[in-house]
Amino acid sequence: MAAIDDFTHEPRVAYFSMEIALHNDIPTYSGGLGVLAGDTLRSATDLEVPVVAVTLASTMGYFRQTIDAEGRQAEQASPWNPSQWAVSLDAVVAVTIEGRRVWVGGWLYVLKGHTNGEQPVVLLDTDLEQNNPDDRAITRQLYGGDKAYRLKQEIVLGIGGTRMLQALGFELRQYHMNEGHSALLALELLRRFAYPPEDMRPGESPYNIPRVRELCCFTTHTPVEAGHDKFDYDLVRRVLGDYVDFPTLQHLAGEQELNMTRLALNLSEYINGVARRHAEISRHMYPGYRVHAVTNGVHPFTWTSEPFRRIYDERLPGWCHEPELLMRAACCITDAAVQTAHVEAKQRLIDEVNTRTGVSLAADCFTIGFARRMTAYKRPDLLFSDLQRLKNIAQRHPIQIVLAGKAHPQDGPGKQLIEVLHRHMRELDGVISIAYLPAYDMTTALTLVSGVDVWLNTPLRPMEASGTSGMKAAFNAVPHLSVLDGWWIEGCIEGVTGWAIGDDVPSTNGDDAGHLYQKLEQTILPLYYENPAGWVTVMKGAISQCASYFNSQRMMRRYASEAYVK
Ligand SMILES: *Cc1c(COP(=O)(O)O)cnc(C)c1O
Repeated sequence: MAAIDDFTHEPRVAYFSMEIALHNDIPTYSGGLGVLAGDTLRSATDLEVPVVAVTLASTMGYFRQTIDAEGRQAEQASPWNPSQWAVSLDAVVAVTIEGRRVWVGGWLYVLKGHTNGEQPVVLLDTDLEQNNPDDRAITRQLYGGDKAYRLKQEIVLGIGGTRMLQALGFELRQYHMNEGHSALLALELLRRFAYPPEDMRPGESPYNIPRVRELCCFTTHTPVEAGHDKFDYDLVRRVLGDYVDFPTLQHLAGEQELNMTRLALNLSEYINGVARRHAEISRHMYPGYRVHAVTNGVHPFTWTSEPFRRIYDERLPGWCHEPELLMRAACCITDAAVQTAHVEAKQRLIDEVNTRTGVSLAADCFTIGFARRMTAYKRPDLLFSDLQRLKNIAQRHPIQIVLAGKAHPQDGPGKQLIEVLHRHMRELDGVISIAYLPAYDMTTALTLVSGVDVWLNTPLRPMEASGTSGMKAAFNAVPHLSVLDGWWIEGCIEGVTGWAIGDDVPSTNGDDAGHLYQKLEQTILPLYYENPAGWVTVMKGAISQCASYFNSQRMMRRYASEAYVK
């Protein structure tokens, strides 16, 4: 068993994230943010960038989704047992919450690369006998509870996590905040590096802000104001107390309320958005900060299905480490090899759908995939805006559809959308086969993105910061059909890597359904059914133009050379 001492001999980058998708069977993630965090660590492992990740143990997980015949989502607890996957840490640190001392222990999980390399992941856990029952529950439910619960979690993550790394003896070069949830870590550093009182003149701030800034970098993930964590100062005073003096806090985190994004922005030297457009929007939302663009990527090995791994291993050895090699896919891989691998991946999806839902899909039928967090701005119902039109399209060229996705338990409209989709499934019964796979997770995601013929994305512009599932599809030669938002603004070469729905102007969101139908009817379906050679050229375009670039090896190299260099 690995121990902490195996990892403390060299300086590391501390990577803080509220959620991390470490493994399919460890439910410490809810969706895109967690998967991205996991892929970031997997790439750090491949590229031997020494990091130590910090997250919450989330021992009750996020939730497991079941869906009844009406499409109503039910949520079950999704407990996991850290002792089966990780070793208990000896160190225990304390944070102050509501004036009480809350003890924070944890677990060491060792993330292993698929070929070599290991990275330590610290899973913080307050479920200790010394704590009262409420405090023991702080690290149980990912994104559960109310505002106060969330603030307590963020105190444990940011402050507890920073103290834990110190207690464990880590030497840290940088602190990377993956989203604002962990921004209290920067306040902890402010306190740690405060000037001693004897060095201060009357009226001077004791805090060495430049020193803290040099140590911190911050990745923001949300292009909508409402998506940023904010806390009333009344709540902050009650839960966190006078942790730093109030004028300083207001100065750094906002006059009216504690805005975690603003706090992270003010205390980070390097700041980035997760796609070019998202960085632009962030600069408008928070003027005065230099926001870089590091477009997200996905981890090559993790998101490539076995049939394609075999081809790449044979034709482009080294592709996992250096996915740029996939640029050569267009000429180095035969059409037949791509077609055969896709048929195999599609059959796996068909079998999975049949086993889990009873829906029979046909191997020779054009299959549309759509799966992601179910929430209003992602518009999962856009494809079903005009059922008659969809039926007409399917009469000329058969289609079938596979859907999946969970709605946050408190997202009423998101849950309703799952019901709406199920109603459309009934209405289209006998005309279009549609399956909804419950309990979307990493394994289901790989089966889906590799097994369908086109991957659909229909967010309301400009709300998709990046999106990553379309990049996973590209590794599996599945073209993307999407609104021009997030990464697709950079990835779309019309008719080469996939297709755009509508144009690049947010005010035209309203016509997206019409554009989607038109693109399917006039371009995509005729190409698929009438020009197989043309279709496989687009499949190869997805590999050579998208997978070669939109991967987390490139992303990690940029973080290592720009954000982690000080
Ligand atoms: C990749 C992934 C996501 C994120 O998909 P987006 O396209 O970014 O919405 C969410 N959930 C799971 C399980 C995933 O694998």
